[in-house]
Amino acid sequence: MVREFPRVRGDAAENGALMPPKNPTVRQSDADETLKCGDCGLSFVFTRGEQAFFEEMGFKRPRRCRECRQALRELARPRVS
Ligand SMILES: [Zn+2]
Repeated sequence: MVREFPRVRGDAAENGALMPPKNPTVRQSDADETLKCGDCGLSFVFTRGEQAFFEEMGFKRPRRCRECRQALRELARPRVS
């Protein structure tokens, strides 16, 4: 399996040399992917940052858009009121 993006955690990140900028405008939009939600059928953006996060966590690519994922999450974990 080929990892196309470098990991930012580790020595470099700890040294503060390669800390990724928090500013979202710096995001490399050309690395973003547009995926289609398997639930509602809408296309949604799977950003480079999300890709890195999913890879880091060992998750597969999402099949649902953020809203559908959030809806599922709320179903799975009812609010405590
Ligand atoms: Zn959806």
